[in-house]
Amino acid sequence: MRYSGGMKLRPLNFRIQRVACRVHPTFLWVFPLFLATTRSVLAALLSFASVLAILVLHELGHAAVAKFCGLPATGIDIYFFHGICTYQSPEYELEHATVAWGGVLAQAILFAGALLMAFVLGWIGPPINGLLNPAVVVLTLGNAVIIVINLLPMRGLDGAIAWKLVPSIFNGDFAGYLRARRRAHHLYR
Ligand SMILES: [Zn+2]
Repeated sequence: MRYSGGMKLRPLNFRIQRVACRVHPTFLWVFPLFLATTRSVLAALLSFASVLAILVLHELGHAAVAKFCGLPATGIDIYFFHGICTYQSPEYELEHATVAWGGVLAQAILFAGALLMAFVLGWIGPPINGLLNPAVVVLTLGNAVIIVINLLPMRGLDGAIAWKLVPSIFNGDFAGYLRARRRAHHLYR
């Protein structure tokens, strides 16, 4: 009799606004990493959930901007410290560059929300603020680090394509594209 292999972990599937999201088993490695550094199950759990929130929101940001560009997203995949948003192929580089900014834009909004949360927790005081501090650190500091790294102009990162939008902002192409998209939304509503 052949041993047919042990338990194989499958991705965790869920849908957000018709977009199929999958959290792949490699993402789970984030937990022991935080457990080793924080030596607290609660802190590791909060950090784990915060990283997941950052990655999912980042990809949802791409999906939202892609939708605005008329390029519906089909899937979001989350792996160990990185994610992929799959969307309909853009026709122009300008569209690709616009969608590239969606991820960090969503992270910037989350960063602002986390700062507000830090302020409120400071006001509430101990022991609540101490308990939730790992989440605040990841959502502010960790989030900012991920934004900066992601915008580096390197292959595989959003920065490789995102900065190509800058010339279009100065020559007016981007403003023209936004106007055309708004008109399209108005027509097809
Ligand atoms: Zn991205």
